[in-house]
Amino acid sequence: MSRPILATVFPEALAANLRVARARSPGAKVYAVIKANAYGHGIERIYPGLAAADGIGILELDAACRLRRLGYAGPILLLEGFFAADELAEFAANQFAAAVHGEDQLRMLETTPTAQPIDVCLKVNTGMNRLGFAPEAVRGALARLEALPAVRGITLMSHFATADEPGGAREQLARFRAVCEGLPYPVTVANSAAILGEHAVGGSLVRPGIMIYGASPTAARSAASLGLVPAMELTAQVIGVQELAPEDCVGYGATFRASAPMRIGVVACGYADGYPRHAPTGTPVLVEGVRTRLVGRVSMDMITVDLTAMPQAGVGSKVELWGRRLPVDEVAQAAGTIAYELLCAVAPRVPFAVADRGE
Ligand SMILES: *Cc1c(COP(=O)(O)O)cnc(C)c1O
Repeated sequence: MSRPILATVFPEALAANLRVARARSPGAKVYAVIKANAYGHGIERIYPGLAAADGIGILELDAACRLRRLGYAGPILLLEGFFAADELAEFAANQFAAAVHGEDQLRMLETTPTAQPIDVCLKVNTGMNRLGFAPEAVRGALARLEALPAVRGITLMSHFATADEPGGAREQLARFRAVCEGLPYPVTVANSAAILGEHAVGGSLVRPGIMIYGASPTAARSAASLGLVPAMELTAQVIGVQELAPEDCVGYGATFRASAPMRIGVVACGYADGYPRHAPTGTPVLVEGVRTRLVGRVSMDMITVDLTAMPQAGVGSKVELWGRRLPVDEVAQAAGTIAYELLCAVAPRVPFAVADRGE
């Protein structure tokens, strides 16, 4: 038997979560954001669930090409567009739409002839201050795009910095609406947090990412309360048991010391599998479906968990690190990070399986 750790992906959950995004976005096209290898789930693994989307948002050109080879015929938007002029031929051949976020890209479009025109999303910087044209530069950029034979459809795009906070999209949205005033183009602004937020931000196209994997974009709401179901479960097994006497320590740095007799389970999952090394003692873990806690430091290949109250658990017991019974958001919060990072970080050495909703 191989090392007992497994990440299971549920494409059906992705489809169900896409339906939640759709219900929250009346009249809008729903593009599934599958950058970073579908937030660590694997594009090929979640592929069947993508039928529930109207299009794809992605960042990596090679992954976008892979999608076409898988037979995906729908719209694909490259969220950061192209990075060099020689990529434009690929955009035209595969009919990829490109975000155009800066002067350099605009110039590449102007100076690179393509076999066919492509759709573009002109990105407006409304306050995130990473990528995008300043509001006052938008009209000029649009005039140049309109004049280009290499450009077909134009959409106006922006991205929120604080849509996960109450009212957090308001200021950027006001700036964006001022820019769009009187312009005939479709618009796209909403990420998961904006889709699920209290106030509708609208748009002709929405771009849900984290929510389609069944995690919450905001610490204020659990994924379950938003109607989302986890698309990944990370499980392992107990591979050893230690009986501790009072004053015995566990693991590197001896950071955990038992104050009473304890039973410790050693689990085949460590930071080299993508489990967060900064997860402290107390981080929730499920053993045989029962919630217990991590104790001591996370090491490369193992974690240690408290089995004191679980005499029935032992070597071979099933452990859920996160998944359908233990939200990844809770583990992330305990470890001082976000579900995005944990899902993206599942390591290459972890074997994956694909399953339907059944057990
Ligand atoms: C990643 C990304 C999204 C999705 O964001 P989530 O918070 O995961 O919903 C949407 N739009 C752009 C431009 C992105 O880069």
